[in-house]
Amino acid sequence: RAYRRGLHVCIVGSGPAGFYTADKLLKSSDEVKVDMLERLPAPFGLVRSGVAPDHAETKIVINQFTKIASSSQLGFFGNVHVGKDITLQELRSLYDVVVLAYGAESDNSLGIPGESLPGVFSAREFVWWYNGHPDCATLPVELQNLDSVVVLGQGNVAIDVARILLRPVQDLRTTDIADHALEALHCSKVSKVYLVGRRGPAQIACTAKELRELLGLKGVDVSIQQSDLVITSQDEEEMKASRIHRRVYDLLCKAAQPKASVPLIGSKKELRFIFFRQPVRFLASEDGQGVAGVQLEKTVLQMDAGSGQQRAIGTGVVENLSTGLVLKSVGYKSLPLEGLNFDSKKGIVPNVGGRVLKAPISDTDPKFEPGLYVAGWLKRGPTGIIGTNLVCAEEVVISISEDFKSGLFSSHPSHTGNVGLQELLMQRGIRFVSFANWQEINALEIEEGAKKGKPREKLISLPEALKAASL
Ligand code: FAD
Repeated sequence: RAYRRGLHVCIVGSGPAGFYTADKLLKSSDEVKVDMLERLPAPFGLVRSGVAPDHAETKIVINQFTKIASSSQLGFFGNVHVGKDITLQELRSLYDVVVLAYGAESDNSLGIPGESLPGVFSAREFVWWYNGHPDCATLPVELQNLDSVVVLGQGNVAIDVARILLRPVQDLRTTDIADHALEALHCSKVSKVYLVGRRGPAQIACTAKELRELLGLKGVDVSIQQSDLVITSQDEEEMKASRIHRRVYDLLCKAAQPKASVPLIGSKKELRFIFFRQPVRFLASEDGQGVAGVQLEKTVLQMDAGSGQQRAIGTGVVENLSTGLVLKSVGYKSLPLEGLNFDSKKGIVPNVGGRVLKAPISDTDPKFEPGLYVAGWLKRGPTGIIGTNLVCAEEVVISISEDFKSGLFSSHPSHTGNVGLQELLMQRGIRFVSFANWQEINALEIEEGAKKGKPREKLISLPEALKAASL
């Protein structure tokens, strides 16, 4: 059954999940009209504000997203915050279908004493800070009086953060890193970064490519305790099941081997891997105004029957690690929206193939919210690379098409889509940024960047962005 009078679809979020879903929907029929709502004036989600500035090639996907946005069937509404400027209920009354793809914009917490001390940030905040995300541009990151940073976690985000802190600052000057971060890194006295993991080198959660790049940084000594590299038969079993873990472990073993010393110009930095340790508390400085360290507890691994994997168990043996900056890289978490079924433990919207489940959830007779779907990190949780969201989007669009065919929802005349949305936003005095407006912002960012030899200088403040867009 073809969509009768054009299906009005609204996508919330303009990251990879939003764009891939839009693309698949637009390709599915000429009669689909898609509006994409984004809380920031700039699109592209974590491709702009997550992917590291020194990974320019990863951001090339923005060209593909820009092409998708050029479709006459797609309307972009930047600077519209769903849950603040407009409610989910309002969107559902305006559109036949609403796809929520608003990512994971909060953090798992460790739930240990001292977590709110100044100088303890999540890796998300730190990444947003160096990437010029408006929410974290003024994060009080002071690197000029620090000699060490502790990163809790050893996944790819932790690796990114460590690399940005250790990389020679001149390598970053020609990237799109925010100017305030470049300035802070230029003045940085950080010479040591600790990467702390609860488990061992056989379980480390990063990928080989990211790790290899970090281990190969010029002027950085890598230290790993040899005894941590001794593996058990259980570790061997786990690594047999995962080529990635095996490659990562082999890289760590290679990095731990003593090297012939290479004379270096300038000061040396150190990257130290600390395995089998979990944080138990953050220590306050004498005046109580900041973090002075983190207390770590030694762990041992124990087989967990449920997951079939080894889990870290505390031994009660603790030690303190001094530092003035701790970055917690222990996982992102999505935020709920009013009126949306939300699993706060998993930090996702309960769904089957992207169809949002109605509460209370029944395993035997699941009921779905008609016309409401989720995609990307909000659907699956905060894992997977940009491309993973393509697979996710395909699944969601298949679900939408099947549900339409089976009559789970219909294209209702009261769903006025784009026209109704514009009316409502205008009534509320919300200055939304169209894709053409974004292109004006984009042009100014590129122009400003070119003056400094950077691909762009991101416009961080909303008034500046709106001014650039002549709004
Ligand atoms: P997001 O990309 O987060 O997009 C969500 C969008 O929704 C955002 O634009 C946000 O502003 C918007 N939004 C949020 N709330 C609202 C609201 N209430 N109303 C309106 N809009 C809203 N993958 C790679 O392949 N390569 C990499 O190098 C890489 N590096 C990464 C580095 C970091 C630090 C992180 C965190 C991830 C990285 N990833 C990388 C993974 C990749 O970025 C994600 O897989 C992908 O961005 C998830 O897509 P998404 O659309 O679900 O969420």
